[in-house]
Amino acid sequence: MKIAIIGAGYGGMAAAYDLRKAGHDITIFESTDFVGGLASGFKEPHWDWSVEKFYHHWFASDKHMLALFDELGLSDQVIFPRPYTVLLHNGKWYPFDSILKALLFPGLGFGLNKIRFGLVGLYLRLTNNWKPFEQVTVEEWMRKWAGKQVYEQMWQPLVIGKFGPYYKDVNMAWMWARLKARTTNLGTFKGGFQAFADRFAEILRKQGVEIRLGVRVESIKREQNGLRVGSEVFDKVLVTTSPNLMAKLCPELPESYLKGLLELKSMGAVVMVLSLKHQLSEQGYYWYSLPKGEGFPFLALVEHTNFVSPEHFGGDYIVYAGDYLEQGHEYFSLSDDELLERFAPAFKRINPKFEMDWVKKTWVFKTNYAQPVPLVNHSQNIPDIETPVEGLYFASMSQVYPWDRGTNFAVEIGRKAAKLMQE
Ligand SMILES: Cc1cc2nc3c(=O)[nH]c(=O)nc-3n(C[C@H](O)[C@H](O)[C@H](O)COP(=O)(O)OP(=O)(O)OC[C@H]3O[C@@H](n4cnc5c(N)ncnc54)[C@H](O)[C@@H]3O)c2cc1C
Repeated sequence: MKIAIIGAGYGGMAAAYDLRKAGHDITIFESTDFVGGLASGFKEPHWDWSVEKFYHHWFASDKHMLALFDELGLSDQVIFPRPYTVLLHNGKWYPFDSILKALLFPGLGFGLNKIRFGLVGLYLRLTNNWKPFEQVTVEEWMRKWAGKQVYEQMWQPLVIGKFGPYYKDVNMAWMWARLKARTTNLGTFKGGFQAFADRFAEILRKQGVEIRLGVRVESIKREQNGLRVGSEVFDKVLVTTSPNLMAKLCPELPESYLKGLLELKSMGAVVMVLSLKHQLSEQGYYWYSLPKGEGFPFLALVEHTNFVSPEHFGGDYIVYAGDYLEQGHEYFSLSDDELLERFAPAFKRINPKFEMDWVKKTWVFKTNYAQPVPLVNHSQNIPDIETPVEGLYFASMSQVYPWDRGTNFAVEIGRKAAKLMQE
């Protein structure tokens, strides 16, 4: 078959890999001039490794990613350091990324709340039966089982940070999936995620996949002998963009499918990357979860060089300041300098010695489609990978539910789509 894939992110490339291996003729169309999509990175001339535009790591439980590295002969390029995630309590930061660390966290006292927190966490880690969780919201379930204090102190800040105005509507299956997948050791690729995406693209090209960078597909039309993409006709097409873009690409999709695409909710993200002259977190912490109620101007502060060594970046210290935001939030229209002015006071709260002259350079990355929002009974609203238009398939972050979005699940859904396309 002659197949077009729209998007050279992890989903599109994973699908291309399987389809090409099965002998099909594959062309990938990618609107940007790089591969890797949302997990792509960038590099300064004096850096050996790239830095992801949006902070990225893998969990040791990311089995689809790990299986792909294995197949590509790249397993020895993946490392799993043990960085530290911290939470704020009474003005002090405490590690909080393992059951033991959580039990030592003073924010919950040492009585009933700690026991409830531990039992609820254990139950969620052990059960595989997520279906009943999607019938209730995180807010309802956690208030009932973990209790008011545990919910308001531990889990509410997380859902508020991630889902903003939708936080009360997010279903409990999302929280289950999030806790299920987490591991204390976090993974990255030697050279950064971009190094992996480039290696993957090189392997695909060697196998005969054509990757056309800088080519934005404007529409997909059904014709008698196939699907038209630009000046060519393909037997089958797989789209890996956001649901909104998919609806625009193929307006001839039946009303019910289009409506399903357009009703899906998601949050955008604005992330500033800074290269600094000095280490910001002198304790060596990687991930600071910043509760919105504490007045920080963003949700997460991530010191990348407390995860991988600053040696790979010519001695620069790399820090992310990021937030999940609704489309139209003012951060999307502020200039980079205006954003830095808003963010800088928070760096001083992490390290009082921080001065503006520590900042060597900043980069700001924005996306409207960063985090799908799963509402109650969400499984009934997931668009099928096989669309009602013959030969047209769709695989996106919004369809990996009950899992939260991630490169691991992009690979899984890409491969699932490849299988369906051959049935
Ligand atoms: C802030 C943030 C943090 C994240 N952290 C992590 C993490 O720590 N670990 C992790 O595993 N995942 C993380 N993710 C999620 C991960 O990046 C995504 O799940 C994954 O990259 C999605 O891959 P994809 O192939 O489905 O889509 P995408 O990567 O979005 O790929 C789609 C591609 O289609 C292209 N495209 C769009 N429109 C067109 C068009 N008209 N024509 C041609 N091409 C087009 C796009 O340019 C893009 O390259 C994070 C995401 C964000 C936003």
